[in-house]
Amino acid sequence: GKTVVRLDGVRREYGETTALDGVTLEIRAGEAVAVMGPSGCGKSTLLNMIAGLDRPTAGTVLVHGEDVGRLSEKGLALYRRRRIGMIFQFFNLVDDLSALDNVALAAQLTGTPARPARRRAMELFEELGIADRANAHPAVLSGGERQRVAVARALMNRPALLLADEPTGALDSRAGEQVMDLLLDLNQIGQTLVLVTHDEHLARRCAGRLVTLADGRVTGQHTLEPSA
Ligand code: ADP
Ligand code: ADP
Repeated sequence: GKTVVRLDGVRREYGETTALDGVTLEIRAGEAVAVMGPSGCGKSTLLNMIAGLDRPTAGTVLVHGEDVGRLSEKGLALYRRRRIGMIFQFFNLVDDLSALDNVALAAQLTGTPARPARRRAMELFEELGIADRANAHPAVLSGGERQRVAVARALMNRPALLLADEPTGALDSRAGEQVMDLLLDLNQIGQTLVLVTHDEHLARRCAGRLVTLADGRVTGQHTLEPSA
């Protein structure tokens, strides 16, 4: 596949702290890449750079040839909504909205009218096996259901990249396995995926490549064999 993400010499300093210390990395279309490393090594900072939630102090972040670090605030907001889908450990759903409206909102924010947005959201709910939960509010959903709603939201705008930060970290093992199956299925139909995790089982299950970070540097890259 062609290159989707290219980081070149990316540094990020927060005052005295160097969170990323010259990261060079390439991710190709259709890959699933897991990023692992000890707490504080820069994993979330790396993901935030790719997501356009944060900018490098030095170096470049290119996504689809777009220099993310040089986008205006408005450009970044558009980039995040159109190119990136994100899922988080704690789901980040809006409690006051139904599951369906949480998902439809992602398309409405990019200018899609409510009815087609809800129609596409419902299609995703059917594909992800949560159609019967569409009208429920997040508070009454199980953790696994909430994460599937979050995945549906992340997929609404057909993102070039799906980014996941500890997506099973708040789930029991059965729900965690379901979310892993879902990520694996998505990657098998071509979704490019970057996954930050402490969980080696999750990395081996879902990713084809492992990037290890320590102290803000890439310390290793390994191909992962598919595991059952
Ligand atoms: P990880 O995700 O691997 O735990 P992070 O990317 O969150 O690591 O953090 C890397 C380093 O940068 C840590 O030392 C952390 O304390 C620091 N850091 C991250 N974000 C900020 C911030 N917004 N302000 C100050 N320091 C930060
Ligand atoms: P604002 O423009 O007010 O910053 P956003 O629309 O960017 O708000 O984000 C609203 C909520 O949706 C936040 O909780 C954020 O974490 C989440 N979010 C933002 N972008 C994405 C995305 N691409 N995929 C999934 N969730 C997202």
